[in-house]
Amino acid sequence: MQKVKQLYEGKAKKVFSTEKEDLLIVSYKDDATAFNGLKKGTIVGKGVINNKMSNLLMQRLEKAGIPTHYVEQLNDRETVVKKVSIVPLEVIIRNISAGSFAKRYGVEEGIVFDEPTIEFSYKNDELGDPLLAEHHALALKLATKEEIDTITKYAFAVNEQLKAFWKECGVTLVDFKLEFGRLADGTIILADEISPDTCRLWDSKTGEKLDKDRFRRDLGGVEDAYAEVMKRLNEHI
Ligand code: C5P
Repeated sequence: MQKVKQLYEGKAKKVFSTEKEDLLIVSYKDDATAFNGLKKGTIVGKGVINNKMSNLLMQRLEKAGIPTHYVEQLNDRETVVKKVSIVPLEVIIRNISAGSFAKRYGVEEGIVFDEPTIEFSYKNDELGDPLLAEHHALALKLATKEEIDTITKYAFAVNEQLKAFWKECGVTLVDFKLEFGRLADGTIILADEISPDTCRLWDSKTGEKLDKDRFRRDLGGVEDAYAEVMKRLNEHI
């Protein structure tokens, strides 16, 4: 499979067309951004880790019956994925209070919820990805009710799978963001990536942050944290 033309360059990935109409190649970069692009930097080796980690996790989700865009890893940074049109919703699942949830509601980080929560943001950089009620997503015709129901069902199923898997690795899955896309026939599948860029992962014993919050909050040891979660995943796969 060959890259034909660059279609898009995002904050963390480039996307290329291929000779096949329905397949794309994603190339993971080491570039890191936070706070809607206000903070920029490089996390050396991140692209390689995120590529591999996302692919391993998506393959696991496929086995559990959740359809994903993953097709085949080509090399350290590049993967063939199914072409989708992205549903412009960021789907966030939380098991424990942290990040914008803790800030918005004035609570400390680390409150373990009885049940996971789901929320949607409107995927729109110009607007800063604002929080969005489901009825607003419907009013804006970002997705149909049926699609939102499917996305919700898959997102909670992804949570159950990932939570259990990370637990085996000694890692607590605090929260994460997913994106879904539509295939040409309208089928909803999981797209984008699952990595320390998009998940909060805490060491189960020490509570140490092993994810992009180390970059966002200038905690240092960013590369080591990404390498540590990758190592644990490799040992467990
Ligand atoms: O910042 P907030 O607490 O809302 O983030 C919730 C989760 O979603 C975190 O795991 C974060 O890494 C992820 N996220 C993301 N991309 C965004 C916003 C949040 O991957 N644009």
